[in-house]
Amino acid sequence: MINLILFGPPGSGKGTQATMLADKFNLVHISTGDLFRSEIGNKTEMGLKAKAFMDKGNLVPDEVTIGMLENKVNANKDAAGFIFDGFPRTIPQCEALDTFLRSKGQEVSALISLNVDDEELVKRLLNRGKDSGRPDDKDETVIRKRIAVYDEETTPVFTFYKAQGIANTIPGEGAIEEIFASLTVLMDSLV
Ligand code: ADP
Repeated sequence: MINLILFGPPGSGKGTQATMLADKFNLVHISTGDLFRSEIGNKTEMGLKAKAFMDKGNLVPDEVTIGMLENKVNANKDAAGFIFDGFPRTIPQCEALDTFLRSKGQEVSALISLNVDDEELVKRLLNRGKDSGRPDDKDETVIRKRIAVYDEETTPVFTFYKAQGIANTIPGEGAIEEIFASLTVLMDSLV
């Protein structure tokens, strides 16, 4: 069973690479951002609540996010493993994930962080905002806020898994296929 955390700032390409990796390694891709956007699309109570945080570039509260993630994992009982994209983003989320997996006799296998320069992130996100329909990609102030929230609240996640000896970094700039090739080499060495 593989439980991979694909890590990195907004716009680092986690979603794109996670989709390709999930396909190649037969894993279930769980993106908490996509789950929230689906809740928003269905106008659920959770979606309405999450939207207020997302539109400002803030994180959705842990108690909402953690429960949603656990439900999604539990709904995929036959999975050979998971790629977590956009989760965990805070230390309480790391602790909850470790406890949750341990209760199933599993653990986080590895974290891979995609390293991308801040100005490149802003450029990519503004570009994505032109046709993604994502309100949080339309406004440069919100984009910079998300990067600041990542620096403050989310980078400790890397340190948390580094202390467990399972954190890795690869360059997230260059062609999508090149980055995927580096990820694949790393995955092959991990699994
Ligand atoms: P990006 O990586 O480009 O920010 P995501 O789709 O991963 O895009 O996330 C979009 C938004 O969803 C985040 O800015 C945040 O508000 C919310 N979100 C996603 N995952 C989490 C999480 N694990 N904890 C809290 N909020 C989250």
